[in-house]
Amino acid sequence: MSVECSKCGKPAVYLRRYTAERLCQACLVSTTLQRVRRTINREKMLHEDDRIAIALSGGKDSAVLLEVLFRIEQDFPNVELIPLIIDEGIEGYRDKALEAARHLTANLGLDLEVRNFSSFFGQSLDEIVTARGETSLGACSYCGVLRRRAINTAAKDLAADVVATGHNLDDEAQTIMMNMMRGDSRRIVRTNRTRENPIGGLVPRVKPIKEISERDIVAYTHHLLLPYHDAPCPYAAEAYRNDIREFLNRMEHKRPGTLLAILRSSESIAEAFEQNTALPSFKTCETCGDPSSSKMCKVCSMLEDLRAE
Ligand code: SF4
Ligand SMILES: [Zn+2]
Ligand SMILES: [Zn+2]
Repeated sequence: MSVECSKCGKPAVYLRRYTAERLCQACLVSTTLQRVRRTINREKMLHEDDRIAIALSGGKDSAVLLEVLFRIEQDFPNVELIPLIIDEGIEGYRDKALEAARHLTANLGLDLEVRNFSSFFGQSLDEIVTARGETSLGACSYCGVLRRRAINTAAKDLAADVVATGHNLDDEAQTIMMNMMRGDSRRIVRTNRTRENPIGGLVPRVKPIKEISERDIVAYTHHLLLPYHDAPCPYAAEAYRNDIREFLNRMEHKRPGTLLAILRSSESIAEAFEQNTALPSFKTCETCGDPSSSKMCKVCSMLEDLRAE
C-alpha cells in the first residue's frame, strides 16, 4: 500500500524531513509556493508593480526560483519578470547551462536576457584565467566579483526595480557558517541587507527561495521536469565550502531544522547590528562611481591588474 500525502491523502511522492510531511506532487508544489510567499511577505521583498530581474544560472536553484515566481506572480498582473543570465565565458559549462535556461524560459513564454563578460569587461572568464595562469586569486574570485557587477549593470540597463537570486537554504547556511568560522560577522550583515535597506547605488537584491532546502529543490525540479544543467563548473574548487556542506548535511540529518535555525540566527545578528551599530558605510569608487568600501572598487582594481598583464 502506498504512503498517503499528509495534506490531502493522495499517494505521497516525497518526504520533507524538516517538517515530517509526506507530500504528493501537487502538495509539494503548493507548500513550496506557500513557503516562498511567506518569505517574500515577511521581508517585503517584492512590490505589486515590480520589474523583477531574475538571475538565472541554468542550474536547478534558479530554475525553481523562476518557476515559483512565475506561479506566484500570476496573481499580480502589474509585475514583470525578466529572466537574466550572465555568460562568463566558461566553455563546455556555461554554454550548456545557457541552453537549459533558454529551454526553461521558452516553456514559460518569457524572453531570456543574456549578457556576457566580454562585452562588460573586454574578456571572458576563460581568457582571464588563461592570461593570469596560477595566481593567488582563483577563477572563482574573479567570477564572483565580476558577475555581481555584471548583474547589477544589466539590471540597471533593464530598468529592473529588484534582482531576485536563487540562493537556497543550504547555500545560505553554508555561507553563514563560513563567515562565522572566518570571524567575519560584518559580512553576515552585508549579505543580509533587506530590500528596504539596500546599499546605495546598487539595485536591491532579494533571495525568495532562501528557506527552500536543496532536497526540496531537487524534488521540485524532478517532479515538474524542469530543464536545468547539472554538471559542476570546471573551475569549482571550494574545498572549504564542501567541508562545511558535509558537516551541515550530517547535522541536518541528525536534527532536521538545523539549516533553518542557522538562517534565523544570522537574521537576528543582522537585525541587532542594524539597530545598535552604524552600518559599514560605502564610499564611491573614484574610477567607476559604484559603491565601494575604498577609493577604488574591487572590480576596477581587478580590471586594472588584468590590463597590467
Ligand atoms: S565555480 Fe567559480 S568559476 Fe565556476 S561559475 Fe562558480 S564562481 Fe564562477
Ligand atoms: Zn497532497
Ligand atoms: Zn570601480
